Amino acid sequence: MKDTSQISGFYRLTTEERAATVSRLVALSRTEQDALESGGLELDRANRMIENVIGVYDLPLGVATNFLVNGVDYLIPMVIEEPSVVAGASYAAKLARAGGGFVTQSTPSEMIAQIQVLDLVDPWSARFALLNETGRLLEFADAVDPVVVGVGGGARDLEVHVISDSRVGPMLEVRLVYDCRDAMGANVLNTIAESLAPEIERISGGRVNLRIVSNLAERRLARARCVIPSEALTVDAFPGEAVVERILEAHAFALATPYRAATHNKGIMNGVDAVVVATGNDWRAIEAGAHAYAARQGRYSSLSQWEKNQHGHLVGTLEMPVAVGTVGGATRVHPTAKLALKILGVQSARELAEVIAAVGLAQNLAALRALATEGIQRGHMQLHARQVAIAAGAEGDEVDLLVQRMVKEKLVRADRANALLAELRESVAR
Ligand code: NAD
Repeated sequence: MKDTSQISGFYRLTTEERAATVSRLVALSRTEQDALESGGLELDRANRMIENVIGVYDLPLGVATNFLVNGVDYLIPMVIEEPSVVAGASYAAKLARAGGGFVTQSTPSEMIAQIQVLDLVDPWSARFALLNETGRLLEFADAVDPVVVGVGGGARDLEVHVISDSRVGPMLEVRLVYDCRDAMGANVLNTIAESLAPEIERISGGRVNLRIVSNLAERRLARARCVIPSEALTVDAFPGEAVVERILEAHAFALATPYRAATHNKGIMNGVDAVVVATGNDWRAIEAGAHAYAARQGRYSSLSQWEKNQHGHLVGTLEMPVAVGTVGGATRVHPTAKLALKILGVQSARELAEVIAAVGLAQNLAALRALATEGIQRGHMQLHARQVAIAAGAEGDEVDLLVQRMVKEKLVRADRANALLAELRESVAR
């Protein structure tokens, strides 16, 4: 934890200066600083992580500033290929700071494993029999991973749902609820579900098919809230009160149509995923959980809520499943993920999930504010132009020259970048 995450002019520093500032603030060792510079993941280690490895794939690691969460300052490591995200998060965190920062909360790290039981003659009786043995099944589940139980986790509940299906006949969906503490928990729950299967077959008289964790982690929620004083939202031609109203209109749009809700939530996930990836967590699991949760009422909708309080200030809340770990998976295997956890300074998976929710809410605010006022492209243009210039093959000073020209011409396109680069190189050659 840092004294402050407000580092004035951080974006104006060179990459080396930024790395040195962060290293100093979170006391990185020489080896950690080297890992930061090199990307950290060696081929040999990569080869042990997945199959058929032929190389490693780098992505930029940025740090978002200004985050005050529950009165504590956090520097936010973000790994992402998309421009504007890190700047957007830092800007929105600054706005939230003006209203006291983010306040967060979370439920325990409870994941659900599903066990599918088929070939049942009397499914309701099978359900009755299983529920009768709940205590013993939970004890059985607790015996599988003594490490998790040793740190206060373990089996919490057993639910049994009868599903009638015309294709395969009646099924039971057995849901085991298990607190996996600081682990993301998929491996833990998969192992337990597989271990429980023979017992479940014996008690129910049926046949078990699937035994796996559910990514709809509806019992593992993180929530964040922030208040933005309306005056902090003033931009150029838009007084703060008007910006509040326009953001509320934008939110109503996301509630009204899934076409907008999908993009609204994508903006939230820009921030969420960047931290999830930086910390070596499973972003597919987070994405699956977030969107399934957004559709849990039968209609896909916004994960965040925006409203106006009695003082006319903008208030945002976000609630979503955030199944992340600070142990297990790649969190301690990928050297840069370990570093990212150190930069964050979080002590538990729940603290990490709450910070991630705050980043998601910040990212949502940044996008809404831009969309509801000047439009997203103005801030985006410069950064987008840089990517287009690099993609066209521009190097060194050529990049800035191309960016300046394209932004001035308001023509940020690959064909224009190619033409400008050819022109530039020709004039240099002459
Ligand atoms: P894991 O098995 O690597 O780590 C969990 C282990 O860490 C526990 O078994 C426990 O023994 C140990 N541990 C030590 N200290 C702990 C603490 N304080 N709290 C909890 N456990 C502690 O990993 P995992 O978290 O069970 O699974 C995550 C991995 O599973 C990810 O790599 C993910 O990609 C993968 N996965 C995901 C899915 C899915 O999401 N559907 C399916 C399969 C696998």
